[in-house]
Amino acid sequence: MKVLLADEYGFCFGVERAVEMVEDALAEGDTVRTLGPLIHNDQEMERLGRSGVSTINAPVQIQRGQTAVIRAHGVTPEVQRELEEKASKVVDATCPFVTRVQKLAARAAEQDRHVIVVGNPDHPEMIGVKGYAPDHAFVISDETEVAKLPRLRQPLVVSQTTIKAKTFFDTAEAVKSKTDDEVQIVNTICSATRDRQEAARALAGEVDVFYIIGGRHSSNSRKLLMVCEEQCPKSFLIETEEEIDAADLAGAETVGVTAGASTPDWLIKKVIAHIEEIGKKQ
Ligand code: SF4
Repeated sequence: MKVLLADEYGFCFGVERAVEMVEDALAEGDTVRTLGPLIHNDQEMERLGRSGVSTINAPVQIQRGQTAVIRAHGVTPEVQRELEEKASKVVDATCPFVTRVQKLAARAAEQDRHVIVVGNPDHPEMIGVKGYAPDHAFVISDETEVAKLPRLRQPLVVSQTTIKAKTFFDTAEAVKSKTDDEVQIVNTICSATRDRQEAARALAGEVDVFYIIGGRHSSNSRKLLMVCEEQCPKSFLIETEEEIDAADLAGAETVGVTAGASTPDWLIKKVIAHIEEIGKKQ
């Protein structure tokens, strides 16, 4: 039985960087508190928990002597200030792709221009970005929400890093109806999600069984499952190797593996070793 890994899988750049920054802080002996869960993967959170990392839900919970970590989604400048006042140290693990959106929004607001951010208004990344242009930014999910916007001044249109390109461009086009000024459109979508989906699609037609490793509540992992199922009906979303049913692998010659953007490498290796073990017994 041959196990084939998709060309792109697992931790995206921003998540990997955030985990490394937390590990560096732990190595320095810090007491680490992340504002919100660092990543959406229970197994990795448990591993970090065993090293003493815990999660707080609001800056007020941070205490002197502790290190506060801002996760990859970023936060508003206000929250950042609050953490800096309360914590002994702040580790800012905001993904540089998110920082770019924050800076674009802040600069446009300084010039008294409107900012349209296409994304989910309840997503922490969007709450953070809006905080950089509180009186100038509107976060809208798609083109159907353009109608509720006021007339716009020299608008800048940017996107949440993880939305679909079509949603972004359709919305940006619709925004033109709300102004007589030129509309500046800056595509700030990060390619990590798309790259993982394309790599999974490329592999799905070549394998008999496909395992997608990721949290059941992780939307990018569920999307990977849908992509794989299109070409490989025996596709399974699993959180750990324990969920693999050996019967599903009976007669399989090639097995595909991919993982969501929050799945750590150690977990992927464990799953592959387990599949290979089952293969040897067949
Ligand atoms: S998905 Fe992209 S923007 Fe988001 S944390 Fe990962 S690399 Fe950064």
